[in-house]
Amino acid sequence: MATTDASIVFNVVYPLKCPLKKAACPRKGGVVDSSGMDIQCIVTGAFQENAYLVFDGAGKTAVVDPGEDAPRLLAALRDAGAELAAVLLTHGHLDHIAALPAMLAAASVPVRIAAADAAWCFTERNSFFPYEPVLAPPETLAADLAEGSEVRAGNLVFRVLATPGHSPGSVCFLLEGSPGSPAALFSGDTLFAGSIGRTDFDGGDDAAMAASLRRLAALPPETRVLPGHGPATTIARELRVNPYLLAAAAR
Ligand SMILES: [Zn+2]
Repeated sequence: MATTDASIVFNVVYPLKCPLKKAACPRKGGVVDSSGMDIQCIVTGAFQENAYLVFDGAGKTAVVDPGEDAPRLLAALRDAGAELAAVLLTHGHLDHIAALPAMLAAASVPVRIAAADAAWCFTERNSFFPYEPVLAPPETLAADLAEGSEVRAGNLVFRVLATPGHSPGSVCFLLEGSPGSPAALFSGDTLFAGSIGRTDFDGGDDAAMAASLRRLAALPPETRVLPGHGPATTIARELRVNPYLLAAAAR
């Protein structure tokens, strides 16, 4: 049987080394400290999807993109003594949402997603190898994310940037920073270290992706980027090495 290589599936050409220092890269076991919040990355499933646990410092946690491996995500929550407060979805592809049923069985919390992706991601249109049949829409689904939305979970406040292109309802979540601690952008499958998400899936759109990238290129350069696959990076670094972001920014 052919093996699945996430770097091929997701068109990711990322550097082997994360440019962030250990203390700032959740994939190296460090944490990103943004506004006093800790962030933990857990790489899940066959597609090596990055699920992020964002701790608010007061016992509440938001999970961004619980892709698979729910037992590991739940164990990390338990180890931290943190309570799940919300699930945030950058988009609806199964490799970002497959852990939803088990996560919600443990804690019935709101699941936030944009309506444009909720419209298809709980239907047969979201069925692909190696995943089993599609998920039923959660009872706590809130398909209300839109440009400028604020998502609150405990003390956490995420600002929503609508960034269609990889999928029609793709969004990025921006966690504001504080002096000495740059903001963190959960970029889903829109922006990767050295690359971007595919636009040839159902609902993908090259022109929309270019416009979304142009917006991300205008973020403060020190913004930390926490992608849906691969290592963390920064806007400044991507503006040096990412041909897709450079091309979009130059338009
Ligand atoms: Zn995706």
